Amino acid sequence: MEKDYRWTTFTHVFENGSVCALYNSLKLKPIFVESEMVEVIKRFGNGATLSEIITDTSPEQGNKLERLLPALDDAKILVDAEGTDDEIIQFFRDHHTGHPYVSIAYFILTDACNFGCKYCFVESRMPKGYRFRMMSTETVEKGLDFFCRLIRLKPEFFEEEKTIVIYGGEPLMNNDAFISLLKGIQERKQDGRLPKKTEISMVTNAALVTSETARLLADHKVNVAVSIDGDEAATNSARQYKDGKLVFADVVHGFNILREAGTNVGVSCTLSQRSVDDFDSTMETILERLKVDSLGFNIVLSGNDYEVSGDYDEKAARAIIKAFETFRKRNVFEDRIMRKVDSFVKSELYAFDCGAAGGGQIVIAPDGQVGICHGYLGSRKHFATTIDDATFNPQNDSVFMEWSRRSPLNMDICRECPALGICGGGCPLNADFEEGSIWGLDKRFCTHCKTTLDWLIWDLYNQMTTKTSSVTEKTTP
Ligand code: SF4
Ligand code: SF4
Repeated sequence: MEKDYRWTTFTHVFENGSVCALYNSLKLKPIFVESEMVEVIKRFGNGATLSEIITDTSPEQGNKLERLLPALDDAKILVDAEGTDDEIIQFFRDHHTGHPYVSIAYFILTDACNFGCKYCFVESRMPKGYRFRMMSTETVEKGLDFFCRLIRLKPEFFEEEKTIVIYGGEPLMNNDAFISLLKGIQERKQDGRLPKKTEISMVTNAALVTSETARLLADHKVNVAVSIDGDEAATNSARQYKDGKLVFADVVHGFNILREAGTNVGVSCTLSQRSVDDFDSTMETILERLKVDSLGFNIVLSGNDYEVSGDYDEKAARAIIKAFETFRKRNVFEDRIMRKVDSFVKSELYAFDCGAAGGGQIVIAPDGQVGICHGYLGSRKHFATTIDDATFNPQNDSVFMEWSRRSPLNMDICRECPALGICGGGCPLNADFEEGSIWGLDKRFCTHCKTTLDWLIWDLYNQMTTKTSSVTEKTTP
């Protein structure tokens, strides 16, 4: 019996001259067809059956449609006429959201910083008179035990990779806690309280790095990300010491000490206005001067006095794509775009763009309070408990349960967006600042996502057409 199909609202059309890409935002597999075929295929949306469409169309188009049908079915460009789009989205919501399990722990060794960067999203949100603190070694120990208990709440996930992030403020301002944390992680890995696959990361401005700290970081195989925004002018344009002194020379000095000690060191590059305005120089610094093989770009968040131009969002999105085109030829790993590329290439839905969304991370403040996102250190909004709480379970906690659902899959405003399946929803903190709720849109991030998706689709098409001669009826492998 002939199967009945229908056009779904999750299918989107991307036009490019005589070729169109049809793309289901939840299936993530583009199908390339001649533009003239789009209206024929869309007739399934008006309730027409295959035989009716074939009868009404030219023999040539009818043949093409029949040939295309298996691919359109496989990529869910057309779906079973029986079900509804509400049922489809509900399936993805149930499967991907609402199941918090903590696998990342941020240790805020101090919330103080020796720098006063203009775009800092942590310090800019701290209320007047905020009292900065140092984490004690006792809090480090208790925090580690707290994390060890949480990762056993779902024993089936215990052996999966865990990440401990050494973070601040500037974490190297608290040397005692830094040493104690590295020691505590090592002990717990050895006696099985932490899984073997426990990665350690640190984000630092590198100005306080010494040979001693670099050696420790190398010995403990810590993945270090040094914040550098491009060349001297770009980095100094937004990053500075508290007293306004320039930072670039000290940062690069620290970076070089880390490199010489054999530390696994990369760059965290916040795309300041200057970084994107002079992006060739930003790239030159990253690739030729620092010679890094892993980095992450950050788009500037709102909620501070740092001003960007009206076309910043578009420029930042294009810069990240431009960088990726170079990086993939040179085996350089850039985290922000790779999340999207991975999702697209594997046709795997990407529900959350950070550990907080999804309810997958804890943030341990210097005083032992436990929250979900370090951006709220100042206000302690979305902080749920403390490290002394021996019964805390994210699955019974309203903060973690809410964040575990904070995905575009659960946001009506995202439902008809083509980037729905590769987006992850950006930064809920930024959305909260912009729109008063973590359920709002992180609009700057939307530009990055939609621009990247468009590029991914046509980049795939270009790769396919350079490998084969025909330009029509291309389907993903
Ligand atoms: S909400 Fe997520 S992306 Fe935004 S600051 Fe917090 S952890 Fe980072
Ligand atoms: S957050 Fe923006 S880009 Fe992402 S799905 Fe929603 S509307 Fe689209």
